[in-house]
Amino acid sequence: MQTPPNEQGVSTSVDLLPDIFSLADMVFSLPDDHQARFGRIFHLSSTVGQVVAPEEMEPWITERFGSPEVVEKQYIIKVTNLVTMEGALFNELRSLRPVEPLSLEQLSAATQPDQDDSFCDPETFTPADTFAQEENTPGRARGEYGITASSLVKIDGYHGLVVCDDHNPLRFTQDQLGDYLDLAWKWAELAHQEDPQACYYLVMWNCLPRAAASVIHGHLQMLLTRDVHYPQVEAWRRAAITYWQTYGQNYFDDLYEVHADLGLGFASDGVRVMASLTPIRERETLVIGDVEDYARPGAFSEPFKRALFLALDTFINRMRVTAFNVAIYVPPLGGTGEAWQGFPAIARLVDRGHPGEQSSDIGAMELYAASVVNTDPFRVAEALRANF
Ligand SMILES: [Zn+2]
Repeated sequence: MQTPPNEQGVSTSVDLLPDIFSLADMVFSLPDDHQARFGRIFHLSSTVGQVVAPEEMEPWITERFGSPEVVEKQYIIKVTNLVTMEGALFNELRSLRPVEPLSLEQLSAATQPDQDDSFCDPETFTPADTFAQEENTPGRARGEYGITASSLVKIDGYHGLVVCDDHNPLRFTQDQLGDYLDLAWKWAELAHQEDPQACYYLVMWNCLPRAAASVIHGHLQMLLTRDVHYPQVEAWRRAAITYWQTYGQNYFDDLYEVHADLGLGFASDGVRVMASLTPIRERETLVIGDVEDYARPGAFSEPFKRALFLALDTFINRMRVTAFNVAIYVPPLGGTGEAWQGFPAIARLVDRGHPGEQSSDIGAMELYAASVVNTDPFRVAEALRANF
C-alpha cells in the first residue's frame, strides 16, 4: 500500500504497486486531455477518519489490524461517477481484513446437490416454454451442454433458464459457457418471435445462495420485457445519450479509456475488460463488447464469450470467488424508437463474498447511498490481466 498524499498533496511513497489510494497522483500524472476525460466522468474525494481507541481495545485491534497506530488515521477515498451517479468508498483498513477462501471440502459441500435438485433432471422436473418447439424436447432449446426451461415463478412475462448439464456451478469450460450463452440467445430470439413487443433482453447468473440463487445447480436466467428496459439499463442508456449530447463522445468508449489510462482496463480481441472504479460491490468487472460486433445477427460474439469466460475464470480460479452475480446488458432485439446507437453488449460481474459469512454484503449504504468496497480495483485488474 502506498503512503497517501501528505497535506501538500505530494506522494511521499516510493513507488510500489499502484493502488486505489494513489489514484489522485495517477490522474495528475496523465496528459491534460486524459485528465479532462477522467474529470468528465469521475469525481474524486479523499478524507481521513480518526479514532481514539481505549487502551483496553489495543490487544484486539493489534490482533485484527497489526497495531493500534494503523487505525488512528484511516484514509478513505470516495469515487463518484458523475455520468451514471454510481459511487464507491474505499477505506484502506477494510482491505486489511483478509477473508479466507473456502477450503476444498467447504467448496464441495457448498456445491453439493440440494435435497430435491430438480435441475439434475430438467426435462422431467422443470417447466417448458410455450415456444421453442424442437423435436424431442417440446418447449425447450437444447445445446451441447445444457437445455432451456421456463422459470416456474416468473419475474416477468418471459423468464427462462439455461439449466447446465453439469451440476457444479463453479465448473465450466470456455466451450460450455459459450454454449450456455448461445442457448440463452436462442431462447430470447424464440420468445421475441412469439411476442415481438417483448424486446428488452437481460441475461443473469446468480451463483450460489449467497448470490441469491435458489438452486445450487448451475443455471443462467433470461428475461425479455416489454415497453421499457429495466431501469438500471435504461439509466445507463440515458446517461450515455446525455454524455454524447454534452461532450460529443461515446460514454462507454471514454469509460474504458479512463480505466485503460490508469492500468485498470485492457482490450482483448476487441473486447474491453476493466476493473470498475465504482464497483457495485467486491471486484466488479465490466466486459464490454464491440458495438459493430453485436450488430451482426447471431448473438454474442465469440470474442465477447471468450472474454466473459476468462473474466469468470479469473474470479473463480485466481481470486477464489465462489458466490457471484453476472448481468449482461444488450440493446433491444427489435426497433423501439429510442436511441440505442453506441450501446454495446456489457457484462457486469460481481463477487458476493464468502458463502459462510453471516452478515449480508449489502446494507443500507449499498441500497440507498453508495457502495462500500474492500477490494482494491488495481488488484482485480492485475488478476484479470494475468489470466488473459
Ligand atoms: Zn443438480
